[in-house]
Amino acid sequence: MRLYCLRKLLGFPGYCVAALAIEPRRGQWSVILELKRLRGPHACGQCQRPIRKPHSSWRIEVQHLPLWQYPTFLRVRRFRVNCPECGINLEPLPFAADGPMVTRPLAALVHELCKVMTVKAAGALMLLHRATVKRIDKRALEKIQAERPLDGITVLGVDEIATGRGQNYLTMLSALEGPRGPELLAVVPGRKEKDLKKFWRWFGVERAKIITHGVMDMWKPYRNSFKAHCPGITIIYDKFHIIRHLLDALNEVRRAELAKAAGRFRGLLAGKKFILLARQAHVRGKAREALNDLLGASRKLLKAHLLKESFTHLWTYKSKTCARRFFNAWVDQLKWSRLKPYHKFARMVESHFDGILACCDKRVSLGYIESTNLKAKNLIRRAYGFRDDEYMRLKIIQVCTPWMGVFSPWGWVHVHNNLS
Ligand SMILES: [Zn+2]
Repeated sequence: MRLYCLRKLLGFPGYCVAALAIEPRRGQWSVILELKRLRGPHACGQCQRPIRKPHSSWRIEVQHLPLWQYPTFLRVRRFRVNCPECGINLEPLPFAADGPMVTRPLAALVHELCKVMTVKAAGALMLLHRATVKRIDKRALEKIQAERPLDGITVLGVDEIATGRGQNYLTMLSALEGPRGPELLAVVPGRKEKDLKKFWRWFGVERAKIITHGVMDMWKPYRNSFKAHCPGITIIYDKFHIIRHLLDALNEVRRAELAKAAGRFRGLLAGKKFILLARQAHVRGKAREALNDLLGASRKLLKAHLLKESFTHLWTYKSKTCARRFFNAWVDQLKWSRLKPYHKFARMVESHFDGILACCDKRVSLGYIESTNLKAKNLIRRAYGFRDDEYMRLKIIQVCTPWMGVFSPWGWVHVHNNLS
């Protein structure tokens, strides 16, 4: 019997293909596979107890992977059973995904495709509406996030990103050291102490006890929140965040100079923000010439630039005393300069110096924090802003967690289509 081949290829145990047809749908041909449930008792949807006779049934259509290029639907009878314990409820449909009316293989493939392409493109490829694609992907991400392992993490990192215009912040909490390597654990809206409470509840009290280090910005609510929840924690203010504050200070100096500037000098200075803020070693060619002209024209900027370049030296010291001596010498150079933002920066570093020196004892890789920040920003930009905030947060977690982002489009084949 030829339909036997179809049943084998479809690979849904407990169901056979009774008929195959093509029907027009929304102006194009669609494949309809009529499925028949094999004999056997029905089951209660809640307690799984076998029940002999169904209460009622009706026909439904579930979209499956496209057959060649045609939208494919499985037409199947859905049963309702009357369980003596739980009352009337639906019998589970083993191959249907929860949520939209699609099969599990289709849902799994859509989720995989969403890792590498836009929701719209995945919809065009799998012949689904993009809202359906988004719902499938969101559901899969929610499931992964709810079931992900969290044990054995010892170093946490926290970072913020601004989204949209104005003061909208997201806090990204990551595990920098743990059995699964660096991973992004959660993204919570806001950056206040109370915003982080939900994260700690989710993370668990026992797991928080084994955290030894917390890597963060000099933002007070983060420090307070970490100290309140992790008893054995040492706070590290990492290089990446501190340099970011220094670059902000340099940018302020640049803006002040630009506001004052007139004539030829204004032309030199305008539009040079990124050349000025970049590491000097990374500026080459024409940009380097422009930088040299700029620094030759303004002594104030020259000094600010040199001080910025030398400050990173602080992280090369292995001894705390040497680092302290270096910082004092750096502050001395500020003395007679009128670099107001730099003075402010130096005061801030001074008051957080213990946490900065903590990195002499514990080296954590900073590349991860820096890259998550970039990846999250790129994701938001590429999607032109998400309309669904929850979905955006889940997508950021997926992009920044290496084990989640692995693309394996046929992963489900081994689950649903074993040769046996
Ligand atoms: Zn039951």
